[in-house]
Amino acid sequence: MTATEPSIFSRIIAREIPADIVAETDHLIAFRDIAPQAPVHILVVPKTEEYVTVAELAAADPELLAELVLFAQNIANEFADGSYRLVFNSGANAGQTVFHVHAHVLSGKLEEGRLG
Ligand code: ADP
Repeated sequence: MTATEPSIFSRIIAREIPADIVAETDHLIAFRDIAPQAPVHILVVPKTEEYVTVAELAAADPELLAELVLFAQNIANEFADGSYRLVFNSGANAGQTVFHVHAHVLSGKLEEGRLG
């Protein structure tokens, strides 16, 4: 994929490929992970794909990061019991495979050895 092609998440946001979308705001979307690592595994994704990592997002748009964290809490309240892990993989060596910043909202027992 070249830098000019939309990320797979942008294609979900544009409804070009299907996903199990559970919530959406003007700036954020949440959908179920296609390969869940926990009973509840939902991705929370800014609609903009200009940021790759959470640190980039924090530096450039801290308000959007705060919005994302509060949205994740609401997702965990609705789809789990309000307790959850919020995981941001940053960099290929940490397991990041989609270079469009996203948070994994994980709740319930994780698959052995996986952090999402
Ligand atoms: P990792 O693959 O190591 O979890 P990331 O943190 O970059 O790396 O997470 C990307 C996540 O996106 C993965 O959990 C993967 O299962 C999920 N994913 C990839 N494609 C889709 C899709 N079309 N719909 C929903 N989730 C997807």
